[in-house]
Amino acid sequence: MSVVTPSGTVLEDDYEMVICKTKDGELGVLPGQIPLVAPLDIGITRLKINDETYKVAVNGGFMEVRPDKVTILAQSAEKASDIDVARAMEAKKRAERRLQQKQENIDFQRAELALKRAMNRLTVAGKA
Ligand code: ATP
Repeated sequence: MSVVTPSGTVLEDDYEMVICKTKDGELGVLPGQIPLVAPLDIGITRLKINDETYKVAVNGGFMEVRPDKVTILAQSAEKASDIDVARAMEAKKRAERRLQQKQENIDFQRAELALKRAMNRLTVAGKA
């Protein structure tokens, strides 16, 4: 399976199971699966291999499943070890501040998405 973003390949590995957060909910995929394409939510992608589970913070995009390969094409994605926790905490605080403001010129949807990305990163880093 591979996780690819506009800035490059984040992960490329074998898999026993891949679990993604699609727009319709969690979807687990095994090798040999019937092909499909599904849009992804901001959420955790879990890669199971050799009794280990690896988490990746995925910021939207698509998953493409072929019998021999799963590809996640995301706006951005980070492995737990690549997450800058301080940066994610700052992003969370910034988004929360914006959401608390009562001004009309605040883009709430943008702030909500920023908050979701930050919380997702903190969860993957084990700091939520
Ligand atoms: P920020 O406000 O901190 O920039 P963001 O959610 O707006 O956060 P994105 O637009 O999703 O950031 O990502 C921009 C780039 O920065 C991507 O390459 C992403 O992987 C990286 N990135 C963002 N936040 C972090 C983080 N906390 N740790 C590591 N990389 C990050």
